[in-house]
Amino acid sequence: MIIHMAPGATSEQVGRVVDRITSDYGLLCETIVSDTTVIGVKGIASIVDEDRILEMPGVDKVIRITEKYKDASRNFHHDDTVVRVGTVPVGGDNLTVFGGPCAIETEEQSLASARMARDAGCDILRAFVDKSRTSPYDYRGLAIDRGLEIARAMKAETGLPIVSELIDLRHLDAFLRAGVDAIQVGARSAQYSPLLEELSKIDVPVVLKHGLGNDMNEWLSGAAFIMSGLDRSGHITPGGNRNVILCYRGIKSFETATRFGADIGMVPLVRSKSHLPLIADPSHSSGDRKLVERVAYGFIAAGAHGIEFDIHSNPAEALCDGKQAVQEEAGRIITNMRAIHHLLEGVGIETGTATAVAVG
Ligand code: PEP
Ligand code: MN
Repeated sequence: MIIHMAPGATSEQVGRVVDRITSDYGLLCETIVSDTTVIGVKGIASIVDEDRILEMPGVDKVIRITEKYKDASRNFHHDDTVVRVGTVPVGGDNLTVFGGPCAIETEEQSLASARMARDAGCDILRAFVDKSRTSPYDYRGLAIDRGLEIARAMKAETGLPIVSELIDLRHLDAFLRAGVDAIQVGARSAQYSPLLEELSKIDVPVVLKHGLGNDMNEWLSGAAFIMSGLDRSGHITPGGNRNVILCYRGIKSFETATRFGADIGMVPLVRSKSHLPLIADPSHSSGDRKLVERVAYGFIAAGAHGIEFDIHSNPAEALCDGKQAVQEEAGRIITNMRAIHHLLEGVGIETGTATAVAVG
C-alpha cells in the first residue's frame, strides 16, 4: 500500500499517518520525501482501512498495490494448492466430486443416499446436519446430536470423508468430535466473520461458498481471512488455516428462471486469481435436476477442480431441495466429468502473471 501525502503536507501530518500505521496496525512504513511525501506500507496491508487513512489531514491518495486477499492470491503463491479432505486431494490436477443429500432427514434416507453417492463414484460425502435455508420456515435439519450420529454412520457405511455445513459456532466442537472431515461455510454465512475467525484457528479444511451477494474480491477476502487468522483487534493468529477450498454457486440476480445466476467465466477467472482449489455447485446454482448434468460439465470444462452436488435416494420424498437432486444418473455424470477433465488436461489456466517485456 502506498500513501501519497498532499503537496504541502506538514511533517506532523506525515508523522501522524506513520504513527497510525505502525501503532494501530503493527505494520512498517518507509517514507520517501521528494516534491511530495510518499509512505510505503510493508506487511499485510489488507488490515488497513483505507477510508480511515484518507480521512487524515494531509493525505491525498491511498493506493493498494496488492489485493486485499493476499494469502489467497496467486501473485503470492504461484502453484495450485492441494487441500486434503481426509486422504482425498482437492485442487491441482485432481478432479474431486463431493455429493450426497442436501440434508440429513432420516437415518434410512441418509444411508441410502450415501450408498448411492459412493456407488456413483463420489470422493467426498455431503453429510449436512444443520441447514441454512432461503426461508427459516423450511426444513433446517434434525437435532444436532442426532444429525451428527447419522453423519458418522454415513461415513462408516461408505468409508468416504464427510463435509458438513457449520452455521452455529456452538456446534464446532461437536462437529470436530464427530470426525467431520471438512466444514462448509454456506452462502448465507460467507461474510459472518466470527465463524470465519473460529475456522481460522483449526486446521480442518473449510469449503467456503460464494456468498449470495458477494463479488469476487469479497469472496476471496473471506478465504484469505481464514488463511491469515486475524482476530478482531487486527492481530494475526499464528498460522491461520491454510486448508481452504472455494465453492462457486452463483449469486442472486434479476433472473428467476434459474435459482441463482452462475457466471461460468468466474471459474477460470478465480482460478487465475487464486491458487486455492475451486469446486462448483451445479445443484444450488441451477436449482433444477434437469439442468444439473450440463451445468456440471460446463463447470469442469471451465476449469473447476470438481463439483459438489445433491444426490438423494428418493427426491420425491425429500424434505430439502428434492427438485435439484439427482439419483443413479450421478454415476454417468461423474464418468463424463472425468472424461472432460482428462480431455482438457493439457489446457492450462491463464494466470495472468506479468511477463517482463524489454523495450528497445
Ligand atoms: C448447500 O450446499 O446445502 C447449500 C445450502 O448451499 P448454499 O449455501 O450455496 O446455498
Ligand atoms: Mn440445498
